[in-house]
Amino acid sequence: NLPLSQVDPEINAVLQGELERQRNTLEMIASENFVPRSVLEAVGSVLTNKYAEGYPGRRYYGGCEVVDVAEDLARDRAKQLFGAEFANVQPHSGASANAAVLHALATPGDTILGLSLDHGGHLTHGMKINFSGRLYNVAAYGVNYETGLVDMDEVRRLALEHQPKVIIAGWSAYPRQLDFAAFRAIADEVGAYLWVDMAHFAGLVAAGLHPNPVPHAHVTSSTVHKTIGGPRSGLILTNDAELSKKINSAVFPGQQGGPLMHVIAAKATAFKLAMTPEFRDRQERTLRGAQLLAERLTQADVREAGIALTTGGTEVHLVLVDLRDAVIDGKQAEDLLHEVGITVNRNSVPNDPRPPMVTSGLRIGTPALASRGFGDAEFAEVADVIASALKPNPDIAALKARTAALAQAFPLYEGLVYA
Ligand code: PLP
Repeated sequence: NLPLSQVDPEINAVLQGELERQRNTLEMIASENFVPRSVLEAVGSVLTNKYAEGYPGRRYYGGCEVVDVAEDLARDRAKQLFGAEFANVQPHSGASANAAVLHALATPGDTILGLSLDHGGHLTHGMKINFSGRLYNVAAYGVNYETGLVDMDEVRRLALEHQPKVIIAGWSAYPRQLDFAAFRAIADEVGAYLWVDMAHFAGLVAAGLHPNPVPHAHVTSSTVHKTIGGPRSGLILTNDAELSKKINSAVFPGQQGGPLMHVIAAKATAFKLAMTPEFRDRQERTLRGAQLLAERLTQADVREAGIALTTGGTEVHLVLVDLRDAVIDGKQAEDLLHEVGITVNRNSVPNDPRPPMVTSGLRIGTPALASRGFGDAEFAEVADVIASALKPNPDIAALKARTAALAQAFPLYEGLVYA
């Protein structure tokens, strides 16, 4: 029972190297966050040893009386946090949760209607080579060409035309709030289920800073690791007792075997933290940061470089930078910011002329930096660094120094060493 550093120095060096990378750079991938020490502790615990197929009180393995407490806490807290009657906290990831949702709501061959991937949807909402695109007949809506916004008249037109079994509202790269009531009205009109995937904005919902989809949707799914800032994993909620039974059996035994009890315990802790004033403050700073970013990236000097924001701004934790009229493409912009010490991902923008490996866009998010403690002053500074980096002829060395100063001023996981 030797420590990792002795058993496997190579992997230990990976842990230390990644810790240093996270400490020394500014993380602005919109889907990422930093879990608190408490969550890290639960994930790295002895609960990883336990098999617990089934649900609390109805397991297929002995010795589950202790882990049952963790799953009950996670379920109860998830229900309280989002005002739901029912929660399943077993999905290993957002994609597993979504597979279970479709398994519960539809039969292979049924039609599903979701936001297309190249307009900001997720792989699991009907991408061609994803299980969702292979098993189901996919109809997709896009965003309006002029405004970049989801157009509810268009969603209704497509719903009437295709008569889907499931309508999906949710996104991976879209800077605005969706109208859940309007989606539900369309779903009711065509006799479809409404499934909301709130993976990205669940933390904002938990803090009361974004409309809650749970009262509108038949089923709501989420990840726990994005704005919420919990362990990498998924979650499913519903207020419908019949659907709750279908969801439970779709997760286990439909999609998964044994649940990850260490991750479920960490989810419980993350949900507990999400009920605190500190969490709300973090989500407020997350939103403010995105707004400051949008303000800086729409100023004249940036616009003159051919750089724009899709929809012209943001209502959530991210902005989508549109580089279609700029000199640089998405890949070059991602590399440039990486050089400066800021991590983002290139992203297709609606009607992108470039291929997915290049793209004409950047997705930039603020949740991780808000968790690190950033407030208005720091977000304004990082926004200016980004604007300066994307304009022609950036002074990389000077920008790198500004990034390093911000990273140093906000230490991460102080005292943690993998030595
Ligand atoms: N749903 C949405 C809207 C997402 O953005 C993502 C992740 O990017 C997922 C689901 C899938 O989550 P995971 O990567 O945990 O499978």
